[in-house]
Amino acid sequence: MENAFIIAIDLGGTSAKLAILQPSGDIVSQWSVPTDISDEGSHIVPNLIAAIRQQVADLHLNMADCLGIGMGTPGTVNVQDRTVIGAYNLNWAKRQNIGEAFEAAFGLPFYLDNDANVAALGEQWLGAGDGASDVVMVTLGTGVGGGIVSAGELLHGGSGAAGEIGHLTIDPHSSIQCTCGKVGCLEALASATGIMNLARLHLTHTQHQTEVSQRLAAGEALTAKDIFTAAEAGDAFSQEVVKQFCNYLGLGISHIINMLNPSIIVLGGGVSQAGEFLRANVAKQTEKYLFPALLNTYEIVLATLGNDAGILGACQLVNLAR
Ligand SMILES: [Zn+2]
Repeated sequence: MENAFIIAIDLGGTSAKLAILQPSGDIVSQWSVPTDISDEGSHIVPNLIAAIRQQVADLHLNMADCLGIGMGTPGTVNVQDRTVIGAYNLNWAKRQNIGEAFEAAFGLPFYLDNDANVAALGEQWLGAGDGASDVVMVTLGTGVGGGIVSAGELLHGGSGAAGEIGHLTIDPHSSIQCTCGKVGCLEALASATGIMNLARLHLTHTQHQTEVSQRLAAGEALTAKDIFTAAEAGDAFSQEVVKQFCNYLGLGISHIINMLNPSIIVLGGGVSQAGEFLRANVAKQTEKYLFPALLNTYEIVLATLGNDAGILGACQLVNLAR
């Protein structure tokens, strides 16, 4: 089996990242293809299959040495059936039978999971999770996503929706509405969008007139990064906003720890670029809400794999199933 390899796919709305890896996670070849979402996304899977065929031929690999194909996709995945539905950024409103298409093309084992879960698995395996058996990843981007690895396996729950950390209700009295229709979801308060929601709300009652509050009041389009950078540099208004952000995120993470007792919580996504300043603040707020018996049982760390988390996690999907 010395030539054994795994094919990994991380499908996104604008492009798909693909890789051929050794089972150890060492990347042999990595490339990407644009995602063509026209015609209800009907070209996506045929394009991926063609891209893999081409690359395998170019590298003179033998498909008989391939242990399987793993893939992460947006949308609601049925892991057993290897189907996905509701991936609206791919124009996949209807159920897509992805497993059947790949098996018909290659005759190889094929494994599918949600992209947030797959990224969590990648970080747990070879990233900040350091191979620990119980790891939760919280992805702070435009929204808040997550994935839970418990006893070495991804949790899916009864209907595949385990790990929807972004829609934990963190403040039932909040006036901030989430895209899901509820108010006070973690995603509406502690994402890149959430911090701007908090900042605008804060403008109405803050005691601090600072450069950032004035720019915001003047209607300037600031970003989450602007708020974090200003807070770290001492802008009092931004510091209040970041404190509230970290308070909400710490409350959400405390629920995760109380419930699942992970040894590592990985913070990923664009907002985690705020780095140690964010991590240390969130860790402090988390402790306030924690069941005391769980203090000092976990670490909150920053993700380390960046954009490679998805393909490494997709590779590990194949390893775990072997
Ligand atoms: Zn929500």
